[in-house]
Amino acid sequence: MTLTCYRCGRTANEGARCDCGGPLWLDVDATDFSWPDGAPGPTTGVRRYADLLPVEPLPGVAAAAGGTPLVRVPRLDEFAGCRCWLKDESENPTGSFKDRGSAVGVAAAVRAGDDWVGTVSHGNMATSVAAHAAGTDADCLVLVPDDIPPERLGYVAQYDPEIVRVAGDYGRLYYDSLDLPGVRFLNSDTPHRVAGQKTTALEICEAFARDLSGEDEAPDAVVLPVSSGGHASAAWKGLRELRAAGLLDELPRLYLVQAAACDPIAAAYRVGDDEVETTTAKETVAYSIANPDPPSGTRALAAARATGGAVVSVSDDEILAAKRALARRAGFCVEPASATTLAGVRQLSAAGELAADDAVVAVATGTGFRESPTATARPETVELADLDGHVRSLVDG
Ligand SMILES: *Cc1c(COP(=O)(O)O)cnc(C)c1O
Ligand SMILES: [Zn+2]
Repeated sequence: MTLTCYRCGRTANEGARCDCGGPLWLDVDATDFSWPDGAPGPTTGVRRYADLLPVEPLPGVAAAAGGTPLVRVPRLDEFAGCRCWLKDESENPTGSFKDRGSAVGVAAAVRAGDDWVGTVSHGNMATSVAAHAAGTDADCLVLVPDDIPPERLGYVAQYDPEIVRVAGDYGRLYYDSLDLPGVRFLNSDTPHRVAGQKTTALEICEAFARDLSGEDEAPDAVVLPVSSGGHASAAWKGLRELRAAGLLDELPRLYLVQAAACDPIAAAYRVGDDEVETTTAKETVAYSIANPDPPSGTRALAAARATGGAVVSVSDDEILAAKRALARRAGFCVEPASATTLAGVRQLSAAGELAADDAVVAVATGTGFRESPTATARPETVELADLDGHVRSLVDG
């Protein structure tokens, strides 16, 4: 496979970024690809698409990455304003889609004989890289911002990586880390991570193509929360490979959603710019997607435009309303960053951008089980002797 820059067209033999600053992607000739035998699911996971991957994931925790459920959730249709499916990425080993990229990225490092892998993150990516490294002989270095509260690192620390706080510009650290000696950094949009994370889109399309989702041959739209742009550009890459393979006539529209408090990609979309500019981040409940300087922002923007989609932003109130709807109407507990998808879908439907009969897949990127619950409950106490009467009055309304 060759590394290609889709910004300027140059190719490279190694590295993560092109001389022009664009992210490098691992190009694969997909023309001979066809759907593997059997149905996608947890027993094959990311490895199912090995023909389109630069390396096969290792046994162990990596084999549990991907193969997540795609479920039709009619109970969300009214809130969403369209026919709603959820791609439930909380089923990954560390509760987010980041495990797809870690499975491929860590395998590439180990197979190349690297002793160390690393990442710049204090959230889901750090947890995921640390877990996948723990499943191999590789050591793991996690670089976090200096001002991070120690309690935020608990999930990462369980896997016993080397954690270093770095004082200085955290945005700059993303790029500088790629040049550090002796450690292969698997940051949010590095080539192997993008290769692994395209499998989200491959699974969605395969499930539709195999009729697992009813009569629709492909979704009309796929909706993702976007931060660095790594997952969104991976989805675009996967869809293009399926088209090259003759397995997809028309690409689903990619709709990307940001939190209004930190929305550099949506801002560029709104004013019709081709390049994403750095913004200043404000606090948002969707802390996992608050990247003011997205390294693949421009790629994500291109993905939305090229597929006929859009980039929108949603307020914290809209995000929390969507999170409640997912739990109360459908039984799904997602983190606020993931609830942005449903909030975005609702907004796009209200604007007439999505139609009531559109088949729309919202990617629930990460679990809500890692946070303290937002709801509180103070149930009343009933004497056992009175319980029969109490329940009778409840069920009789
Ligand atoms: C990382 C992350 C995202 C954003 O993905 P990018 O590839 O950085 O755009 C969205 N949701 C969750 C839960 C995440 O952990
Ligand atoms: Zn370039």
